[in-house]
Amino acid sequence: MVMMHSRMWRRGAWGAGLVALVAAASAPSGQDPFYNAEGDAIGRIVDAATHHGQSWQILSHLTESIGPRLSGSAGAEAAVRWTAERLRADGFDVRLEPVLVPHWVRGEETAEIAGANPQRLLVTALGGSVPTPDDGVTGEIVVADGLAALSAMDPARVKGRIVLFNQAMAAESAFQGYSKVVDQRTKGASEAARRGAVASIVRSVGTLAARLVHTGSVTYDEGVARIPAAAIASEDADLLAGLAARGASPTVHLRLGCHTLPDVPSHNVVADLRGRERPDEVVLIGAHLDSWDLGRGAHDDGTGVAMVMDALRTLKSIGLVPRRTIRAVLFMNEENGLRGGKAYAEAHASELARHVAAIETDSGGFPFVGFTSNVDEPGLSMLRSLASALAPIGAAQIGPNGGGADTSPMKPAGVPQISFDVDRAHYFDWHHTPADTLDKVDPAALARDTAAMAAMAYLLAERADTLPRPVPSPSPAPR
Ligand SMILES: [Zn+2]
Repeated sequence: MVMMHSRMWRRGAWGAGLVALVAAASAPSGQDPFYNAEGDAIGRIVDAATHHGQSWQILSHLTESIGPRLSGSAGAEAAVRWTAERLRADGFDVRLEPVLVPHWVRGEETAEIAGANPQRLLVTALGGSVPTPDDGVTGEIVVADGLAALSAMDPARVKGRIVLFNQAMAAESAFQGYSKVVDQRTKGASEAARRGAVASIVRSVGTLAARLVHTGSVTYDEGVARIPAAAIASEDADLLAGLAARGASPTVHLRLGCHTLPDVPSHNVVADLRGRERPDEVVLIGAHLDSWDLGRGAHDDGTGVAMVMDALRTLKSIGLVPRRTIRAVLFMNEENGLRGGKAYAEAHASELARHVAAIETDSGGFPFVGFTSNVDEPGLSMLRSLASALAPIGAAQIGPNGGGADTSPMKPAGVPQISFDVDRAHYFDWHHTPADTLDKVDPAALARDTAAMAAMAYLLAERADTLPRPVPSPSPAPR
């Protein structure tokens, strides 16, 4: 199934038409002389990124030569070193900015339905989970369809048992569906522990029933017992829930060997294409370098890293030096701590008033559809005119409420937040699972994404005026 998908993509519905698009690259947009002047630049960006781009080569190295990049791991450090070297080789002045990151290590993990006829379950520890004792933990399953269902339950039913959080994600709703159910993964363990549970198991969050396990962070509340927290495949959650509904009272034996080591020093990787006229004004383009450990961090967020690095390289390769600085930031530790995003905002606090926009790409390398932003209507309308100049790349939609996790610590300083938006229909098929691998990415879509990122960054950095800054607001919780 997955292979078929990937072959289908490579053959190319998404990649088709690139040549025609490039040919139409000088399409002017509206009456604004800025866009007429910039039409040629956009055409050159599209040509360079799609015909001479290196985004696929970067992604291949990151996901296959380096592999998974969980914060604190050797893979994460290799990714810091390699991306910095590569950006230097491309002629950029690269800084490694210190970030102290958590170091959680996955151990052996098993789960089975205990009894005379044991059945293996596909299980994975949630990131940050405490281990079970060496001989595991055993408990009868009590099923709760989400946090609210647990709250409504008599705590006596929970005490001494293992809670299975079994609220399914609505397949069609992508990020909305994800954010509706993911709280049972992040907060479920503490809520279960408050009621005396011995462990917490969550139905894997995702949209593809391929017996995949989905990891992600668990957050323990202060002052509440820390119980082991794991995810099982959605099919295995259905099995347990079905048995429980039929009165079979399934008992699960869970063993997790994960553990947390002391924090380790790591880095954000920062490189500038220095502006020709206002170099201290910055358009930031960012993605996260770390990944979960089960897969190889292809769509999350290797494609983002490849886009950001190759967007910067592409602009330089065709000699486009905009008025302001375009800064590439590869953030460390988005997945389980957001330490890189916080460290960047702290280290650059005095410059944030001159950060004119921060674009984050962390929704996969799927076909580009547009941008969302947290700026108010006058700003959105300016983004719409900028997007119209991207016609050679595609009809870019502009929407409200944008902003990514790593750039969110810059929100209190009023830095306009922009999310790079793609077709997300398949993102949660593989997100945080062992299947987030290179074969799921279409090279032509990634090249076009890179062109869109480079073009939007260039336009924002070149235009004489800047986006009106939004009213500063506190950072949202990371996802
Ligand atoms: Zn991500």
